[in-house]
Amino acid sequence: MKLFTVKKEEKEFVALLNKDEQTLIPIAALGLPYKDMNQLIAEITQEELFLLKEAVLNGSFNNEETSKNLLLLSDVIVCAPIPKPNQDVICLGINYMAHAAESARYKAEAFGGERPYPIYFSKRVNKAVGTGGVITSHSDIVDSLDYEAELTVVIGKDAFQIKKEDAYDYVFGYTIINDVSARNLQTQHKQWYFGKSLDGFLPMGPCITTSDEISSPPNLKICSRVNGELRQNSSTSLLIFDIAHVIHELSQGMTLKAGTLIAMGTPAGVGMGFQPPKWLKSGDTVECEIEKIGILKNTVK
Ligand code: MG
Repeated sequence: MKLFTVKKEEKEFVALLNKDEQTLIPIAALGLPYKDMNQLIAEITQEELFLLKEAVLNGSFNNEETSKNLLLLSDVIVCAPIPKPNQDVICLGINYMAHAAESARYKAEAFGGERPYPIYFSKRVNKAVGTGGVITSHSDIVDSLDYEAELTVVIGKDAFQIKKEDAYDYVFGYTIINDVSARNLQTQHKQWYFGKSLDGFLPMGPCITTSDEISSPPNLKICSRVNGELRQNSSTSLLIFDIAHVIHELSQGMTLKAGTLIAMGTPAGVGMGFQPPKWLKSGDTVECEIEKIGILKNTVK
């Protein structure tokens, strides 16, 4: 099941993608009271999720009563599925082997060395950008703007001290994040926080695909394109530290609240991996695509 946050006539609401993949049904039309995606994730019951899924599969939105509530996907503005996350996004650094190699080649003192444990950092977000939105280039302070397509886990219920074998019970679904990065800021400060957290640096979407539609662990094609040129092309099965490892490890000491986003790191093929590097510039279009989730497409300005 694919859940979208969309905007129509200045109203933002959650809607479900219909079986035809062209129309959406607002969850309010199905009698669900959740005002936004954060509330839905935290409060929706398993029974409600099951009923929604059945309704999509059976095409039961296409009867006369509910079909008047259907909206064309092309008639709404698609927002980030979680436009205002409750907390910073938790991110993994250097979590695919080939990306580790290209990063170390670019700047060994910043990205090289042994890593027996995952690198965790966080990414601030005032407002996530939906597909079709703008990546702000901040060209007054950024000279090396880069993209990173990432599978992102959406936690479905508060998770504390979770065993690896139970980790996927806490996954609500998956989305795509472009972990936009200012390499000069990322490497000139000791920590990555500033260079990852500028306004407009968190494109997310186009939707959340619920975990029942994706295998555990996910084995999905992941790629990115800049102005149509294929840059990253890999599989989410190649993560160094997998999702169960991360949920288990972090939850030993911190509660991962419902709605928490964990961006699992990016494969090889980012701009700094090329010689010379291929930085983003104003006017460029970046597409991040993951099988079963969709395409997150943004323009740099
Ligand atoms: Mg990243």
